[in-house]
Amino acid sequence: MDGLNTRLKREIWKHLGDNPVPEELKSLLTAVSASYDNYEKEHALLSRIMDLSSEELFDANTELRKRNDELDRFVYSTSHDLRAPLTSILGLLQLIDLSDSKKEKELYLKQIKISTSQLDNFIQDIVSYTHNKKMDLVDEEIDPKEFINESIEKLDFMPNSSRINKEIKIRAEVPFFSDAQRLRNLLSNLISNSIKYYNSSLKNPFLKIDFIVNPERAIILVEDNGIGIKEIHQSKVFEMFYRASPTSKGSGIGLYIVKEIVEKLGGSISVESHFGKGSTFIISLPNKYQPPEKIPSKKTRQ
Ligand code: ADP
Repeated sequence: MDGLNTRLKREIWKHLGDNPVPEELKSLLTAVSASYDNYEKEHALLSRIMDLSSEELFDANTELRKRNDELDRFVYSTSHDLRAPLTSILGLLQLIDLSDSKKEKELYLKQIKISTSQLDNFIQDIVSYTHNKKMDLVDEEIDPKEFINESIEKLDFMPNSSRINKEIKIRAEVPFFSDAQRLRNLLSNLISNSIKYYNSSLKNPFLKIDFIVNPERAIILVEDNGIGIKEIHQSKVFEMFYRASPTSKGSGIGLYIVKEIVEKLGGSISVESHFGKGSTFIISLPNKYQPPEKIPSKKTRQ
């Protein structure tokens, strides 16, 4: 019998050997063969589904492990970074109590101010981390120039900010739409890093921001001629609580938040840096701008 399912053929052969199939069984065997075929198709489909779900399970498990590991580090570093400035403030307050000198008291107060702003920066980082995780994405029109100027102005208070020459270049073919709050946090982190890690021995420290918008995406380049990042650290600076040098001035969470924001917005980020020369952060973000639909001319409407 031709065209029978191979598995069924094997079974028949086991029973009949080379003997011909009895005529009265032929229609029954054709029906059995069809159910064998059906069974095999369903079996193949099920195995494919199982492969897929075990792949998904594996991915979900890897993601869960990563998040769990991050949570551990988060709890450890958060408690450390919150306690360090607080204990320093408590110590300084005791010193103020003990001191009779006005000059000394002023110095301690200045240090308290520094510790308080460290604490505030850290809490702000945690707030923007949570905002990025929890809040829905919003698409709104963004004026890049106004946006960047605003972010720079807000960081004017940082030490040495006034020494750094800031240059902004915008090239926009179309309006840019994205999530304003997330973009604000992203820019503020990158700009404040360029200020924090500027090269104090240079006569002309600079920060250059290029913002290029096309219908599909915005490319943002944040370039500085600061202290730069050693090659061995470059792939790790986006990790949670990673500091690339012992003189790092923060908690090491800023670039992690930046990367999380970029991922949430569906974009990508990379860094090119030369130690002692400077760094450029390159961000690509999708443009959520929807061009107005063309209104058909009178002729085509008729
Ligand atoms: P931090 O709060 O320590 O500044 P970030 O996550 O923002 O943490 O950055 C991680 C590390 O990468 C920093 O500790 C610093 O060593 C390095 N870094 C980030 N931006 C720059 C930059 N523009 N120039 C030089 N080093 C940088």
